[in-house]
Amino acid sequence: MFDLHVHSTASDGLLTPEEILKKAQEIGLSGIALTDHDTVSGIEAAKKYWTEHKLSLDFIPGIEMNTEVDETEVHILGYYIDHQNTRLLNKLEEIKEARLERARKMVYRLKSMGLAVTFEQVEKLARGDLIGRPHIAQALTEKGYVFSIKEAFEKYIGKGRPAYVPRYKFLPQDAIQLIKRAGGIPVLAHPGLLPKRELIQEAINLGVAGLEVYYPEHTHEQVDEYLRICREYHLLITGGSDFHGIGSEESRSRLGCTGIDQETYRQLYAYHQRQHIPS
Ligand code: AMP
Ligand code: ZN
Ligand code: FE
Ligand code: FE
Repeated sequence: MFDLHVHSTASDGLLTPEEILKKAQEIGLSGIALTDHDTVSGIEAAKKYWTEHKLSLDFIPGIEMNTEVDETEVHILGYYIDHQNTRLLNKLEEIKEARLERARKMVYRLKSMGLAVTFEQVEKLARGDLIGRPHIAQALTEKGYVFSIKEAFEKYIGKGRPAYVPRYKFLPQDAIQLIKRAGGIPVLAHPGLLPKRELIQEAINLGVAGLEVYYPEHTHEQVDEYLRICREYHLLITGGSDFHGIGSEESRSRLGCTGIDQETYRQLYAYHQRQHIPS
């Protein structure tokens, strides 16, 4: 089994890249891709651990980029990216800065509403590279202003609520270009979570090379439909657990619970090889 959708502490996962590789090896996975949200900062550590411990499983450097189409979230996965690509790193830095600035603004709004959360508190809760609304929600919970993360979103930081500030606008086509230029393969993440099916066609038109067919929340019917689409448009098939660590949301708490088999993986790898014909 190849689990090609995994988050570490570099974004919002609970395990470090090293812990993930160790666990993947222990449970006998054939390969994993590290796909942190909008960051590649975990890849170096993962590679180092992989080399030092002479792991037999395949390790694929990856990323999951958050993009938006008319306020709808569209996630684009990138496989075999060069995590040292300057253009990619510059863009990721820009996104990170924009997120910091947005968090500051949201904290400021909360403060002016009389809710004494601080930016330092929020920053501390965001252990990785990615600061987001979940961390602000956590801060509000810690301070006792709300009973749950859900309540924090409903009352204060959800879309249309008083402390909400929109995110930096990043389009799927920008993510696709960026991933390709960093030598990666762009894949549409969890199509089943999209509110409109037309968005799948749109992503294909924009140039994704594959679909994440296998995903914990996809039904058998969805999987069959996506397999059909992949055949029709000659797209790569990928899959993964969206693992975020034990104790995180149920469907995302089991490493290797979903993924692809050896033959499907071989096709992804072959595609990657074709793109990098040694001169
Ligand atoms: P951000 O990218 O900073 O806007 O945060 C988006 C994240 O907040 C999503 O990926 C969800 O994990 C979380 N989120 C969004 N809406 C809610 C909600 N109503 N309740 C709990 N978590 C939410
Ligand atoms: Zn996540
Ligand atoms: Fe996602
Ligand atoms: Fe994910």
